Amino acid sequence: MKKIAIASFRRSPSGSAFIYKQDIANEAYTDAIINSGAIPLIVPHLDMEYAEEALDGFSGLLIPGGHDIDPAIYGEKATYSRNYEKSEDLFQIALVKAAMKLNMPILGICRGMQLINTALGGTLYQDIENEYMSNICHTATSTPYRGVHRITIDKSSKLYEILDNDHAMVNSLHHQSIKDLGTGLNAVAAADDGVVEAIEGNGILGVQWHPEAMYSEMAMIFRYFVNEANNA
Ligand code: MN
Repeated sequence: MKKIAIASFRRSPSGSAFIYKQDIANEAYTDAIINSGAIPLIVPHLDMEYAEEALDGFSGLLIPGGHDIDPAIYGEKATYSRNYEKSEDLFQIALVKAAMKLNMPILGICRGMQLINTALGGTLYQDIENEYMSNICHTATSTPYRGVHRITIDKSSKLYEILDNDHAMVNSLHHQSIKDLGTGLNAVAAADDGVVEAIEGNGILGVQWHPEAMYSEMAMIFRYFVNEANNA
């Protein structure tokens, strides 16, 4: 079976006697990959010099949800960004660049989509509520498993082919969003307020929502990704 690398989410421990951080992946991601016919393996936080070698033997790279990204990475001072860890960002950016060099398909989810965007020179709104005029709540954290706002999908996009629809209802658990697009990326879906909800590039698909938490409706995204993944 193909193997998919999931970049770990690095979290501080809670309820543990140890102070060590933990490199984890939510089971929703691993389940989504398994249910789509591939083996998921977590790539822990490493020094960026190991990124390319860490991807050896993998067929695809998944960058999941997680923290905000250090705004210094896209050349801005912190306004509303929080809980960021630059070394984690830099390693994941190195993973993205290594995967691109290896022609390995990349799926970015939530933070993962934003991370890909910044890896390619793009920028972010650090807080939608404070930096972007919107009447849509993008931080519907009490309803993570169901669609809360509509997106409109570009009919010329891969995502349109994947979901076979130019509209979808998506969950929304993000307080940041894409501002300027990175080089080689296209915005292919937006919420009704204009917030970018999906991007595509060569070998790249990024979604701002969490398809792994609405798998029954969004399985096609993971099936597409696994199908595109290289035969390593
Ligand atoms: Mn949203």
